[in-house]
Amino acid sequence: MLILGGSSEATALATALAARSDVRACLSLAGRTAAPASQPVPVRVGGFGGVAGLVDHLHANDVEILVDATHPFAAQMSRHAAVAAREADCRFIRVSRPAWRPQPGDRWTSVATMGEAAVALGATPRRVFLTVGRLQLDAFAVAPQHHYLVRTIDPLDADPGLPSLRVIRDRGPFTVEAEERLMRREGIDVLVTKNSGGAAAAAKLVAARRLGLPVVLVARPEPPGPELDVAGALALIADHRASARRGV
Ligand code: NAP
Repeated sequence: MLILGGSSEATALATALAARSDVRACLSLAGRTAAPASQPVPVRVGGFGGVAGLVDHLHANDVEILVDATHPFAAQMSRHAAVAAREADCRFIRVSRPAWRPQPGDRWTSVATMGEAAVALGATPRRVFLTVGRLQLDAFAVAPQHHYLVRTIDPLDADPGLPSLRVIRDRGPFTVEAEERLMRREGIDVLVTKNSGGAAAAAKLVAARRLGLPVVLVARPEPPGPELDVAGALALIADHRASARRGV
């Protein structure tokens, strides 16, 4: 089995599968994070070289089940995975978590792209907490009037061209209390984040709600097909193994 990872769901799945003697799983990472969290199954790192490269990899490693457990915003990898699984005649499972939904007291504006998020901040200078990763920060160069507090795991690769910028490097999960303290200390007026969903990154939204702060949320891309949670995927994998043992 090949698990396309880079999410907490991929790690949870790998942890559950590592305990099974009838499954040999390998986890694949894109290689974006310099020091990724350790994994309970063997790991391979780096792109496959598009759909054709992934199909070759699936054949070369006799992969029976391809699990796409990439982050909800890794849209290209998910598209490639769905096509490659069909071409290589692999069982395909997409694992993800539900998007966050607004709760009473939330002041959310949903936008489709990072560029729209920059525009949604408005003309008046604000103090913005940006938790959108480090690869799309240049989208905010069109709104240089704001002060940006950026939190990333790895250092920035390039100058995003934001005149007033402070970068803090930290890796979640974060508590609501710590997020609230940070936003108060930095005088944050608005939070910008992707609608990644999941418990590990939700504390900042609860903190923003408690502080009455507005949030600009970038909506997630449409998945290429149906999605399961980790428990659903494990049930399907167990079923597949049972069928294989029966020779069905
Ligand atoms: P992407 O735009 O969908 O993928 C770009 C290319 O990166 C893919 O075509 C593939 O290269 C390679 N790639 C992506 N995920 C891979 C994986 N798990 N194993 C091997 N190659 C992979 O992806 P992205 O948004 O840059 O995200 C990269 C990784 O970071 C993903 O694995 C994702 O789970 C993780 N991540 C993403 C976000 C986010 O907000 N986008 C947040 C947290 C974690 P080839 O075409 O050469 O095969």
